[in-house]
Amino acid sequence: MSEAQTFRVMALHALAYCERLFYLEEVEEIRVPDERVWAGRTLHQELDEPGEIVDLTMESVALGVRGRVDALRCRDGSLFPVEHKRGRAKKGPSGPEPWESDRLQALAYALLLAEHAGRSVTEARIRYHQDNVTVRVPVTESATAEVAGAVQRARALCSSPNRPPVTPEERRCVRCSLAPVCLPEETRVAEAAEETGGREGEERGALRLFPADAERRSLHVVTPGAKVGRTGTCLRVTEPEGHTQDVGAREVSDLVVHGHAQVTTQALRLCAEEGIPVHYVTTTGAPIGYFAASPAGVQRRIRQYRALSEDTVALPLARRLVLAKVENELRHVLRASRKDEGLRVRVSPRLEEIRKALRGAARATNRGELMGHEGVAAKAYFASIAELVDPAADPAMRPDGRSRRPPTDRFNALISFGYGMLYRDVLSAVLQVGLDPAFGLLHEPRSSAFPLALDLMELFRTPVVDVAVLGAVNRRTFDPQSDFTITGPQVWLSETGRKKLIEVHERRKHEEYRHTALGYSLSFARHMELEVRLLEKEWSGEAGLFAMMRIR
Ligand code: SF4
Repeated sequence: MSEAQTFRVMALHALAYCERLFYLEEVEEIRVPDERVWAGRTLHQELDEPGEIVDLTMESVALGVRGRVDALRCRDGSLFPVEHKRGRAKKGPSGPEPWESDRLQALAYALLLAEHAGRSVTEARIRYHQDNVTVRVPVTESATAEVAGAVQRARALCSSPNRPPVTPEERRCVRCSLAPVCLPEETRVAEAAEETGGREGEERGALRLFPADAERRSLHVVTPGAKVGRTGTCLRVTEPEGHTQDVGAREVSDLVVHGHAQVTTQALRLCAEEGIPVHYVTTTGAPIGYFAASPAGVQRRIRQYRALSEDTVALPLARRLVLAKVENELRHVLRASRKDEGLRVRVSPRLEEIRKALRGAARATNRGELMGHEGVAAKAYFASIAELVDPAADPAMRPDGRSRRPPTDRFNALISFGYGMLYRDVLSAVLQVGLDPAFGLLHEPRSSAFPLALDLMELFRTPVVDVAVLGAVNRRTFDPQSDFTITGPQVWLSETGRKKLIEVHERRKHEEYRHTALGYSLSFARHMELEVRLLEKEWSGEAGLFAMMRIR
């Protein structure tokens, strides 16, 4: 970074709050506006007090900062900047005080204003609206040195390839808008586990630092001839017969266009603005392509390429991935057969095969061996799935092993369509985090599917798709006739079948469960994003929690 470049005053505010927050925002270009940030923006939009000059942007190369002051006031011949804060002031021994980050921000504005106006500025003021108090910040002789010191530290961080550690002041994380990205609690759990050989990590558990409303939903457009347009900040879905549905863009995680539906340019633009990927798929659920705004965070991708090019990094991660998948398959069969002794006896040879593959995967020395053990386990697992279908269910719903491309029975048609939806969910999570889906750690780039998305979906095939499909089949959710289309040996879902499975899948994705290593509850939808972020941590100096989830 050159000496002529300046920092936003808000960046110095972040720096004083937490160096890691500064790094994530300014170096990795991650910004997540949460409810508090939205509230702050609204407050600034509402401000229009008489006598205040608002919207003044200033920059000083000499100071190394730039920024837009909230307001300026002139009282008794003195000019000073006013900063508005929605929250509360710090409680000092003799009354309200500014928070350190707010004080640095106010000083930076005062110095900018002094240079801009060519006159001395002796104080800044901060208005804390929740307390209804205004706190004065004197501009002392040390102010210039304080701001210069912060700018120097910011420059040093910008030239470092490493994220600073999480702040030791845990309370700050509770109020931090980047907690869902930074994952400070997860880092603390991993560190505690490392220090105590695993014991304290589990005991400590992690606080869940992301709000429930951060979970947005996939919007599926299934009806042939439907159209997706834009109205304000909503996506409007118009069915061919004219029925319309408006969905707020902030409620949508991704838009999935099945078959021959249309999306207008205006709607695509809204999706790009709001970071909503648009997936185009065939009526059988196969991916055609996607549209997404170009991602920032080039540094993040460079780190990914470097890390995953090293076998010493990629192979242990691939092994954890396979162990998680196979162990979840084993647990699924064990759990589904635990109350039926006869069933347990029938599936026990398969369970033995899965256990043997698990031991083999743990010892595998290359990706080929890993994939081999994974394949053996998958074959045994699908052979046992037929036993788990309720004997009273329609025999047509019972699978015969695993058949794909094309599926040759109804159960496999459901599983294949479900895996297609899971692939898109995981791809959306990878795009959201800003990793490159084309660069994976286990799968080779052989088909049009992205290897990293294929890798990560291994973690969720059993808990999200297999468990949900088996449950729905056993609850008789699907009609063996009207929900399927049979063409020769090929079996596909009909439109009604697709709609039912989409509903089952979306419901399952948003079910909450307790993470086995972190100790808090979260939905599978959120967990997909979490695993991508935990994967990235593996090569960012905070390893240990990727692929640790197991079904109970
Ligand atoms: S969550 Fe905590 S450690 Fe992470 S950036 Fe925010 S304040 Fe810093």
